[in-house]
Amino acid sequence: METSMLCIKNGILIDRNSAHHLTCPYIYIKDGRIVHVGDKLNVDAIEIDIEQDYISSGWMDLHTHANPSVSIGLTPDQIGVKQGVTLVVDAGSCGSSNIDSFVASLPSYQTKVRMFLNISSVGLTRLDELADSSLIDLEANREKIRAYRDLIVGIKVRASKSVMGENMTQPFEEARKLADEYDLPIMVHIGNAPPVLDEVLPYLGKRDIVTHCFHGKPSKVVNGNDVLPVVRKARNRGVKFDIGHGGASFSQFTYTEAITAGLSFETISSDLHIGCINGPVYSLSKVMDKMVALNLPFDDVVDRVTHQVAKIIKLDHYGKVDVGYVADLTRFRLETKNEIGLDAEKTEIHTSVSFTPIAVWVDGKEVLISNE
Ligand SMILES: [Zn+2]
Repeated sequence: METSMLCIKNGILIDRNSAHHLTCPYIYIKDGRIVHVGDKLNVDAIEIDIEQDYISSGWMDLHTHANPSVSIGLTPDQIGVKQGVTLVVDAGSCGSSNIDSFVASLPSYQTKVRMFLNISSVGLTRLDELADSSLIDLEANREKIRAYRDLIVGIKVRASKSVMGENMTQPFEEARKLADEYDLPIMVHIGNAPPVLDEVLPYLGKRDIVTHCFHGKPSKVVNGNDVLPVVRKARNRGVKFDIGHGGASFSQFTYTEAITAGLSFETISSDLHIGCINGPVYSLSKVMDKMVALNLPFDDVVDRVTHQVAKIIKLDHYGKVDVGYVADLTRFRLETKNEIGLDAEKTEIHTSVSFTPIAVWVDGKEVLISNE
């Protein structure tokens, strides 16, 4: 069926990679794709005037828990379109034994979903999913990766004592094998040692991702003014770093120390789950507010929830407002509002600017957001 052309106008574009960054281009959409960005065209189109709000590529959250069938899981829409996020990546809720039912549920949501397959077959149906080595079934993992090649964007390994018990090398070895076979990144969650970073990071290469990269636990990435040598080496190999705020995994002090010591990172993600959606995380946009408060320029913040995410998980034609790209967009305001947020160590971050999503378009279809 022919759909009519849509034209979004009068919005300030935030896209550092576009020549139209910070201008108000006419954005034309047809059949779910962006077909023109720039001057007004002489064509029939349904025009939507967004009245000087901001518009960016649809926000994407690289680390969430969006499978409601596991105990810590939320729903994709709750933390997706309802919060201005057009695509959520579930980070390991599913292993080979429980992925089928989650995939079957996805058409009931408006938010797009991708996932990191947990190296453990049980996913996060139990929170010590790697304690028993028999829970890693390489052949079952291969079968699911082949079946859901368009949805699985990587392999998840949670490297904490509480998750792994004594089983500290096998999960990495098996994940490395799978990742190399299918050219997928491994996302490693770092937390309480053991294993220490010296044991974990050597498994990772340039496609891989460290999440919770600025946690404040004893085995963190910096020691005073110095980035740990193993961390510096991993960054030099191209290993990607992701915030993964969560309930226990983002410390503003670690962040400030690390940035001051010259460490950088790629993506801002929420790690939203049932234990942090009512604070300290609430939403991806609240994490973005805190990053602005910690001196990251706001267009840089937007870049790290759009373009950078698409690059890391190789989402073709996502993350930019440009011709040929998927018409996933977020309309938002930057409201001046003094609020006090908390990091995961419960220390205050005073925010003065608030990203307020107004609407999203998913494949060119508008979803309004109620900000009651
Ligand atoms: Zn998580």
